[in-house]
Amino acid sequence: PQLYALGISRFSTSTQASSSQRNPPRLRNLIGGEFMESQASTTIDVINPATQEVVSQLPLTTNEEFKAAVSAAKQAFPSWRNTPVTTRQRIMFKLQELIRRDIDKLAMNITTEQGKTLKDAHGDVFRGLEVVEHVCGMATLQMGEFVSNVSNGIDTYSIREPLGVCAGICPFNFPAMIPLWMFPVAVTCGNTFVLKPSEKDPGASMILAELAMEAGLPNGVLNIVHGTNDVVNNICDDDDIKAISFVGSNTAGMHIYARAAAKGKRIQSNMGAKNHAIVLPDASMDATLNALVAAGFGAAGQRCMALSTAIFVGDSKSWVERLVERAKSLKVSAGIEPGVDLGPVISKQAKNRICKLIQSGVESGAELLLDGRDIVVPGYEDGNFVGPTILSNVTSSMECYKEEIFGPVLLCMQADSLEEAIDIVNRNKYGNGTSIFTSSGIAARKFQNEIEAGQVGINVPIPVPLPFFSFTGNKASFAGDLNFYGKAGVHFYTQMKTITQQWKDLPGQGVSLAMPTSQ
Ligand code: NAD
Repeated sequence: PQLYALGISRFSTSTQASSSQRNPPRLRNLIGGEFMESQASTTIDVINPATQEVVSQLPLTTNEEFKAAVSAAKQAFPSWRNTPVTTRQRIMFKLQELIRRDIDKLAMNITTEQGKTLKDAHGDVFRGLEVVEHVCGMATLQMGEFVSNVSNGIDTYSIREPLGVCAGICPFNFPAMIPLWMFPVAVTCGNTFVLKPSEKDPGASMILAELAMEAGLPNGVLNIVHGTNDVVNNICDDDDIKAISFVGSNTAGMHIYARAAAKGKRIQSNMGAKNHAIVLPDASMDATLNALVAAGFGAAGQRCMALSTAIFVGDSKSWVERLVERAKSLKVSAGIEPGVDLGPVISKQAKNRICKLIQSGVESGAELLLDGRDIVVPGYEDGNFVGPTILSNVTSSMECYKEEIFGPVLLCMQADSLEEAIDIVNRNKYGNGTSIFTSSGIAARKFQNEIEAGQVGINVPIPVPLPFFSFTGNKASFAGDLNFYGKAGVHFYTQMKTITQQWKDLPGQGVSLAMPTSQ
């Protein structure tokens, strides 16, 4: 019954699951098309954050197994890159159909391992599914360029070729969407892939890998290795891996960026955030408050695009009381419960960290208008729950403001003018996303032009672009220059080759050692 609830088939785990915690299934790696038992002597427990139940055990992949995965990917590359793009697209067509078929299973797995509500888990899968849909048009996305007759009988054209073996390193907060930002784009461009899921919630990646195999992805094109720092460092150092996609914290992201760049790899690194909402008094109050509550507390604040700071400009500061009322009415429980608004945070350590940052805010002078630290959820007394928390009178020198909290905590600040509010946002080191709530087109346009953040919402709380655009965080929220998905994603996973050809009968012109020109 536990395997069924996990959505993972007998292929990707070894031990027969029992419903008791004593015998949790052990996850397998995927190497060269086979779900293989790891020889690792150390495992990490994957824990249901609402109950503390051990869901599965994750092996710390050995160096030999890691090498075998890279070697399988390397071996699969020559024939995969020569597989017609239409065939590669068709496999993605099939994959999107299979993800739709199994979306409930995927969502249940996400809720079990990550904690978010089932409805939100569906959204997690769906936002990834849209990337799979998008790469079904890869033939057009990957098209090159052609200029005829650049010189006498000479044409020049450029083509986008795959890089080889690429790798992805994932965070815990979107167990389906983020792997789907990575491998579908990479493999449809003709690369092969080694994926390292988050060690906290690897189940969705396993289901997706099974579906990719069922869709017809040839052996070795997608491989999965489990683990933590060691396997990540192996990925950074391996000469056969040409590019790395990373999503996660700044500590890990900057380490990976530096270490892998030293080996000459391409890296796209999406990292932490502190996303601000600017609320002008001319905004629609009702819609704005609903947006702030949804974007501040949805997924228990564990979204990199969560709106974690609201700057109330002028008279809009009087709305804070109503904001507290709305936040108070949210239902906190396990994600599988009906009508629940937010589930637990990922771990006991995460809860401690969040509570400490709330406390440091209080000690440095912020006013705690709503305190979710001592919440007890009936039936889930062991869960890592933090209820919606609101701190007001927050200033930019406070620790709770400077750090990414990554929990259901909304900080409220005040500004006398739009200029002052923009200045606060621009002085923050992060630049992932930001939103303004206003009915003034002039204010919105000024905000759009002057704000230093990569994803801007105008009366939209979580402006995560759909896959025909790219995910464009900037400043400390991103390292690299080619963003995830969209055109930039295809550019990241391909390199240009430019061909100059001459097909013309030319009269003999003798030998010239001068630099050829088109004059
Ligand atoms: P994390 O950095 O702890 O883990 C991410 C991955 O890096 C995991 O696979 C982990 O095993 C690995 N890792 C962690 N520490 C490492 C180290 N020292 N050396 C090598 N590898 C290491 O991040 P997380 O807690 O899983 O995810 C939350 C973070 O991700 C937040 O900061 C959030 O803002 C960020 N995030 C950003 C985006 C974005 O697109 N900008 C999206 C989602 C999450």
